[in-house]
Amino acid sequence: MKRAIYPGTFDPITYGHLDIIERSSRIFDELIVGILVNNSKQPLFSVSEREEMIKEAVAHMNNVKVMSFHGLLVDFARAQDASFLVRGLRAVTDFEYELQMTQTNKVIASDIDTIFLTTSLKYSYLSSSMVRELASFGADISRFVPENVTRKIKDKYKVEN
Ligand code: ADP
Repeated sequence: MKRAIYPGTFDPITYGHLDIIERSSRIFDELIVGILVNNSKQPLFSVSEREEMIKEAVAHMNNVKVMSFHGLLVDFARAQDASFLVRGLRAVTDFEYELQMTQTNKVIASDIDTIFLTTSLKYSYLSSSMVRELASFGADISRFVPENVTRKIKDKYKVEN
């Protein structure tokens, strides 16, 4: 049984994340989307809001679970009996940080491997922070995030449509 964790902040989940989730759910027997609870960041959405939005967006994939976790990613992976981590690569700018994190994880947990999926071209520019910024100015973000997320963001920013 090949189980993988796809970790991230997902504030909020975008079509770029969903693309990585869909593709990795076909590679692994089970995929756990792991929402990192990071107390040093001030997120737009609470962990439970993010969890609910992701659950709705992945409901059509029956081998994908959604959980949140504190602390070290490799400890969470071991606790879930997952031997793989999945990360998405958008551009060269992602690479250095991802390489450093992957090598660090490999040193502290040699039994866990990280698999990178390069983003689909049509989502290569897309990030949660860009979506938040556009939404804060009232721009239409329906091309970037699932419909349930568009609705939630509109509520957050009280954008009239
Ligand atoms: P983090 O804060 O850990 O970067 P994110 O929620 O931003 O978490 O992203 C989680 C993962 O998804 C990361 O591996 C990131 O590179 C990847 N990712 C984010 N946006 C996209 C996208 N548009 N296409 C492919 N991968 C993406």
